[in-house]
Amino acid sequence: MELPTDHLKWLNQAVDLAMENVRAGGRPFGAVLVRDGECIATGVNQMMALNDPSSHAEMEALRHAGMTRGSVDMSGTVLYASGQPCPMCLAAAFMTKVGAIAYVYGNADAEPFGFSSQPTYDALGVKIEAQPIPVFKVAMPERPAADLYGAE
Ligand SMILES: [Zn+2]
Repeated sequence: MELPTDHLKWLNQAVDLAMENVRAGGRPFGAVLVRDGECIATGVNQMMALNDPSSHAEMEALRHAGMTRGSVDMSGTVLYASGQPCPMCLAAAFMTKVGAIAYVYGNADAEPFGFSSQPTYDALGVKIEAQPIPVFKVAMPERPAADLYGAE
């Protein structure tokens, strides 16, 4: 599945959600799930608020989409994330048939701020460039990583 032409709009929304989550006391991660040009669910990282290790932004978006739509079949959706999805989120996206994933900030952007999931990638032998579904890293130089990951 190719990345839709309106992908920057959704990536901006994912980053905006992440920034709002930081202002609300959460971690800097947001996600938007889109099908046919329409947002069907959003999520933000609520790990700390819920003491839920699986409450990553992407997991929350998939969870909300599943609950509100009564199906775990995410065929035809694009999952937009502010940051590089971790292996857990990649697995959940694959298992629910998400069509494509796009994200803004990579682990290299997140690492200086302590938000990289690269140690998990390495330990599990997962490579972001070798996924069974298309994964796109989209550069947004007008939105520097430090603005999000350095925000308090
Ligand atoms: Zn994750």
